[in-house]
Amino acid sequence: MEDLLKLKDKNIVVMGVANERSIAWGVAKSLYQAGANVIFTYRKERSLSKLTKILNDNQLEAKFIVQCDVNNDESIVDAFKQIGEAAGTIHGVVHSVAFAHAEDLKGDFIDTSREGYAFAQDTSAYSLIKVAREARPLMTEGGSIIAMSYLGAERVLPGYNVMGVAKAALESAVRYLAHDLGKDNIRVNAISAGAIRTLAAKGVPSFNEILNKIGETAPLQRNVTAEEVGDMTLALISHLSRGVTGETVYVDAGYNIMG
Ligand code: NAD
Repeated sequence: MEDLLKLKDKNIVVMGVANERSIAWGVAKSLYQAGANVIFTYRKERSLSKLTKILNDNQLEAKFIVQCDVNNDESIVDAFKQIGEAAGTIHGVVHSVAFAHAEDLKGDFIDTSREGYAFAQDTSAYSLIKVAREARPLMTEGGSIIAMSYLGAERVLPGYNVMGVAKAALESAVRYLAHDLGKDNIRVNAISAGAIRTLAAKGVPSFNEILNKIGETAPLQRNVTAEEVGDMTLALISHLSRGVTGETVYVDAGYNIMG
């Protein structure tokens, strides 16, 4: 299997582990199984201590861990500088980061504030562009960048509001980045994950109802797990997907195809 994936000893940056429920942690577990070296970025000290604990609990070792606040250009530049010094070449980046103000996920979308709109876009969509720009010089052997999206990018999911518009921008940014970076053999794709109970999901009102509805309606008649998103991320980073770029791939038990 390792031969097929060609990820053994490859350096992959995973951004966004807040705890063991994070989608980014599901991704990291898949990467470890494929023999990759995993480099983590975190924002808050609290996330660092959780990350250190779950690595220890699972007897896994990070190649490198560095702080990176994606709202801050200097922080992104500094993080990737340190990653370059620690790892040299990198082969992939998983952007599993998003945030919006809680008040912008309550009430009507029409009441979104200018500042709240800009903040959601900055954190959840622009950050991918800046991250790709800083990662590119380190991806000298080509590679793969993955971002996490959600169905709210293309359909109205009440309560997802400003984040839906940010995810629409993220998916579009994936296509433009795929065009820019294709000449460097760097592929850029998004995964549209089904609803998963994580810290970020707590901010979405009526999340339980969403989970129930998906469980009843999706072709697979269930919700998905962070591990399933992790495995598809692995596939999209690996040699198996070398002909795929600019795509949004659904890992949602088929929910998106339903009318
Ligand atoms: P999570 O809360 O575990 O992860 C979100 C991460 O974003 C956290 O680690 C947090 O520290 C990080 N983050 C927020 N602001 C940041 C900043 N300024 N700088 C650096 N990091 C920052 O939740 P999750 O559900 O695993 O979310 C990961 C990604 O998956 C997000 O893009 C989310 O929108 C997406 N997603 C989640 C679901 C779901 O149902 N959970 C569904 C589809 C897509």
